Amino acid sequence: MKRPHENPSDRLWVEYSQAFKTFDDLTLARWMSQTLGQLEGHAWRLSHPLVATYRLAASVGHEREIWHKRLVTIPSSYTEAPCCRSPLLVLFNSEILESGLRCHHCGGTAVPLEDIPAPLRRTIINWAAPYALNNEIAHWSDEDQPDNYDEILDEAAEKAKDSLVDAGQILMPKLLNFLPTVTWEDQDYCLDVQPEDIDLRS
Ligand SMILES: [Zn+2]
Repeated sequence: MKRPHENPSDRLWVEYSQAFKTFDDLTLARWMSQTLGQLEGHAWRLSHPLVATYRLAASVGHEREIWHKRLVTIPSSYTEAPCCRSPLLVLFNSEILESGLRCHHCGGTAVPLEDIPAPLRRTIINWAAPYALNNEIAHWSDEDQPDNYDEILDEAAEKAKDSLVDAGQILMPKLLNFLPTVTWEDQDYCLDVQPEDIDLRS
């Protein structure tokens, strides 16, 4: 999860997060706890504005170690993330095989892949391994690109869209069986797949 301030999108993120920097600790903790309650029990796209707003608050809250101060009661279904002792709010994305489910508060691994129950872990591996291979097409070097590379890239983007629909429709409900809430990355920068391309009704 990006936090450094080197590029324009990081600078913009810091500018957006100013809204929460004006909150005192108790106000921030209350806002976060209430929002966790609203997120509870559902799978959310990473592109959802409520998730984006929570992530802004989480970055400020993490800097202030807000959850260590025990200022508010958090919704009871949220257990403590082992990485930073925040309420367990995770991100599922195509890096799951390397990084597990990432924590929205500290950016670390909140749930390693091996801690996901075996049948679901296998389903996730069967999703993520082909996804990674398909994504690789976007990174072929100039000398590896055939004449019809644009066509191959378009096909890869279509495959990524289908896979992301599967992630939203099939994998997320299964993850919700053992997590209070889950968020998932609904885009692929490398293949130029945007959130609006992921139609969960399809
Ligand atoms: Zn964490």
